[in-house]
Amino acid sequence: MAYSFEIGPIRPPNEPNSLLIRVTRNCDWNKCKFCKLYKGNKFEIRTVEQIKHDIAIAKILRDRIMEITIKAGQSGGMQKVIGMVLKDPPNESFRNVALWLLGGGENIFLQDSNGLILKTEDLGQVLVTLKTSFPRSKRIAIDARPQTVLKRKPRELLQLRQAGLSRLNISLESGCDTVLQFMNSGETAEIHIKGGRRVVESGISLSEYVTLGLGGKDLSIQHAKQTAGVLNEIDPEFIRVRTLTVNNQVPLNSDIENGRFMRATDEEIIREERVFIETLDVHSNYSSDHVSNLLPELTGKLPEEKHKLITILDRFNALSMTEKANFMIGRRVGLYKNLVDLDDYQRHDLVEQIKLKLNQKDKKLDPKVIFKLMEDFI
Ligand code: SF4
Repeated sequence: MAYSFEIGPIRPPNEPNSLLIRVTRNCDWNKCKFCKLYKGNKFEIRTVEQIKHDIAIAKILRDRIMEITIKAGQSGGMQKVIGMVLKDPPNESFRNVALWLLGGGENIFLQDSNGLILKTEDLGQVLVTLKTSFPRSKRIAIDARPQTVLKRKPRELLQLRQAGLSRLNISLESGCDTVLQFMNSGETAEIHIKGGRRVVESGISLSEYVTLGLGGKDLSIQHAKQTAGVLNEIDPEFIRVRTLTVNNQVPLNSDIENGRFMRATDEEIIREERVFIETLDVHSNYSSDHVSNLLPELTGKLPEEKHKLITILDRFNALSMTEKANFMIGRRVGLYKNLVDLDDYQRHDLVEQIKLKLNQKDKKLDPKVIFKLMEDFI
């Protein structure tokens, strides 16, 4: 039987080639209205022995792929062998290790939610085992809730950094307490600021995740301003945005159906993002790499590239209604990535045909059509 180890369901978009090692199962909070990731699944902290066992298997798989490469001779080398493994992997574990090697074998992500909840000593042991087993690894990242960060003393975070923890991801989502409360996030702006600051002070790189559209129509601008305000206090290394998506498995859907929450349209979210970026006063890398975002090209270093980001948003805002509709549909069906794609007349025509089929020609675009396209695409 082929070797395998446990892998959780989520690979963050900025960890496309990372080795996934599962330290927790599911989410210990599991109550956010906008999230369906681990609903119905029990939270568990895996034991150090279980995690070490998985690391040992990952090492065997890595060694095996290297061995096959040496045996296969020089024609094409490691890339060729990895390509073969990825084409027909014996199981998901092999695929995980092959993908990792393809990316240089440098980054590791510890799944699932809130991995920092492991006792510091236990997490330290996991990190040391990873570093010893994979000495070439450069980045080890983990997710954490800010309340969990605040349960760790500054010296514990320092110990974890020294053991090899290089990045912590925190889902801020919003810096507006009204939004956080409505969404049942269990956190407040103040906890986020304190937790985020503690990570920054420890020297561990911090990624803060923000959800555009989380304030809906009513709180859109408040959400933008207050989220930027919280980030200004934290000054994380990375700010990563994604856009609210809601299908019928997401608890927030019942609030939408009952009229308690009105989703912001793509155009309103672009307005919100402009206010958000304008209000940011940070030294962070801004990233829009999530598939749910209308404008993934909004990537740059702040404050240096703030003007560049605002210019992209203004370019979208300056489009005619028809061109905006063409871009929104094209992006939501996966034909466009950047605004410049509008100049590709073949794709542009194709989108016009799709628009016709959707019965949206010569009409003001129905936001529900766009929401549906976006959720189907994701
Ligand atoms: S804490 Fe994160 S994973 Fe857990 S329910 Fe909230 S958004 Fe989902």
